[in-house]
Amino acid sequence: MADSPTTTREAVLATARRMLAQRLVEGTSGNISGRLPDGLVCLTPSSVAYDTMTLDDLVVVDLDGAVVEGTRSPTTERDLHLATLRRYPELGSVIHTHAVHATMFALAREPIPAVIEEVVVYLGGDVPCCTYQPTGSAALGDEVAAHLAERSAALLANHGLVTCGRSPDQALHNAALAERTARIVWGARTMGATVHPLPAKVGTDMAGAYRYLRHNP
Ligand SMILES: [Zn+2]
Repeated sequence: MADSPTTTREAVLATARRMLAQRLVEGTSGNISGRLPDGLVCLTPSSVAYDTMTLDDLVVVDLDGAVVEGTRSPTTERDLHLATLRRYPELGSVIHTHAVHATMFALAREPIPAVIEEVVVYLGGDVPCCTYQPTGSAALGDEVAAHLAERSAALLANHGLVTCGRSPDQALHNAALAERTARIVWGARTMGATVHPLPAKVGTDMAGAYRYLRHNP
């Protein structure tokens, strides 16, 4: 990313507050990372409320998780951020939330289907569900990273949602899109409606758009 470190830190903090305002998180749950221009990673801290969080509360770590800067402890879920950022150099941010409707699908261990074109373009297709691994474990980090190879969102079984993007802004956009899609699919099913898939051709035709957005600023 071309941003200065200060700008990336500010983007992480601003995006953390927007996650709260958009009701994608509650209390101190959820977390966000941003890759700094020097390759280090800025993380939200563990157990600090978003509405009082300041730039000084953010923690900078290297890609192996060693704290380089900051007095707080980084989020206990740092492994899912770092495993993803280590594996995919094109990505600059990861967001983890417990968004309600996405988490319904995570409890069912059922993918959020790509039933609107936006999901194909921005998330790469259906949002897959990872195999259950304990919260905060390195195994969960590996599981998440494996599922984000060709997707920008994945569900954590019995837990929540993780999304990624080139910037905190993109990762937040993708989290809101995954949550909105989970909500409308749940709502349509609650109506008793059959949720029809998009024609397969849509996925083929829009795969290039997804790859472009993931790899280009
Ligand atoms: Zn969590």
